[in-house]
Amino acid sequence: MKIADPYAVLGVRRDASPAELRAAYRRLALAHHPDRNPGDPGAGERFKEVVLAYEVLRDPLRRSAHDAGKRPGPGGFDEQWEEIFAQIFRRARPPGARPGDGPRDLQARLEITLEEAAGGAAREIASSRWVRCEACRGKGEDPAAQPAGCPLCKGTGELKYQRGLAGVTIPCSACEGRGRAVRERCPSCGGEGRKRREERLRVQVPACAEDGAHLKLRGKGDEGRARGEAGDLVVTVAVRPHPLFKREGLDLLFDLPVSFPQAALGDEVAVPTLSGEVKVRIPAGTQSGRVFRLRGKGLCPPGTIRPGDQRVRVVVETPTRLNERQKKLLEEFQRLSSPSTNPRMRKFWEKVKGFLG
Ligand SMILES: [Zn+2]
Ligand SMILES: [Zn+2]
Repeated sequence: MKIADPYAVLGVRRDASPAELRAAYRRLALAHHPDRNPGDPGAGERFKEVVLAYEVLRDPLRRSAHDAGKRPGPGGFDEQWEEIFAQIFRRARPPGARPGDGPRDLQARLEITLEEAAGGAAREIASSRWVRCEACRGKGEDPAAQPAGCPLCKGTGELKYQRGLAGVTIPCSACEGRGRAVRERCPSCGGEGRKRREERLRVQVPACAEDGAHLKLRGKGDEGRARGEAGDLVVTVAVRPHPLFKREGLDLLFDLPVSFPQAALGDEVAVPTLSGEVKVRIPAGTQSGRVFRLRGKGLCPPGTIRPGDQRVRVVVETPTRLNERQKKLLEEFQRLSSPSTNPRMRKFWEKVKGFLG
């Protein structure tokens, strides 16, 4: 394990004094400490370089050997150093054990009915988010307790690791090398600086909200530790499929099944709309697929001059499972049919004749 240029790794001049070397080492060892860079594997490699570079330069004999053009490694064997680093990294906080320190946006989903989407709705949703601990103002330290000795380094500010000939002293990452400058953990938040807060939030869904629409609740996301500024809560609206109506822009599509006699003879049918029943007159001779528009019975966003329509599509149902009498009547009906009874069929077969020549 050799370091190409320990001066460059520590960012110091070739004539740096032992005090300057030590200051640079403490700063970099803390900055790249795996404790402080969870989830960043590159930090571990930089940390190793810093430790090994300092091991070469802090020993006057090894430093002068290096300055004379030799390439001495740090004291000890590679395996011993690997064991030391493994020990330091094992203690490091696992990645993801703690939420990020900054404010963060949160996501939520709100399912509503088509009726609610049409008219707008006020709904409550449950939210769980991080808020800054006011007792310690996000610092995580007990404001009432006197600064006590760091429990990790026992107040020395340093942690020593030794394996055979290899040994290293690194600044304590828990107290940043200050030793006695750590206070007790804040009893209110357990030292996290933030707490989970369960809330019920009021969400106002505007009239005619689309499926998939985003509603932003400003300041209702996670709060950061430092200043308590908060992210937003972004609510995605999901409109549940309706058993009767389909939405198309501002229009509502509605399929109305009618019987063959109803379509042939005409009828009046009560059709449901979002604002109650409406009588629809089916004229005699209505074909399957014909669409009747119920003006203004669709969706109407606030400020819209022309609201959408409800489009009623007639679907003629061919009768099935006929009894004997019904069959007889239809057979008689068929005998009495003339080309004028079915003008479409007549035209069709005329075209077929023309096509066949
Ligand atoms: Zn606290
Ligand atoms: Zn400490």
